[in-house]
Amino acid sequence: MAKARILIIEDNRDNRELVRFLLEQAKYEVLQAVTGREGWQIAQQEHPDLILLDLTIPEIDGWQLAEQFKNDPGLADIPVVALTAHTLPVDRKRAMDAGCVGYITKPLDIPNFIPQIQAYLAGKHLSTTDRPGSGE
Ligand code: MN
Repeated sequence: MAKARILIIEDNRDNRELVRFLLEQAKYEVLQAVTGREGWQIAQQEHPDLILLDLTIPEIDGWQLAEQFKNDPGLADIPVVALTAHTLPVDRKRAMDAGCVGYITKPLDIPNFIPQIQAYLAGKHLSTTDRPGSGE
């Protein structure tokens, strides 16, 4: 079985390198983008299995980019997971409203990172009802 291909869209080099390292160590194939525009282009070209999306990125911010993915018939099926330090309930809701299936908070919880990725790849998305922070 082919290994899943994961696109990281993240402008912070240290965060991007850490995510790439952890994913490659787990034998995933990693694609990287630094800006929203680059992320959009790579997603169109490569159609990855999962997108990890930093919300604060140049050119097209993550919320807007998540909307674009959701509204593009060719990309709408790809799960988009927000990678964010924005952990207030209102920020999470904004990411979900934009089309993200979930979020991973920064700084990364390293032991749980790969299990989270596996769950998102398996389609075990946190639903609106059991999402952490819902009802707050
Ligand atoms: Mn950023």
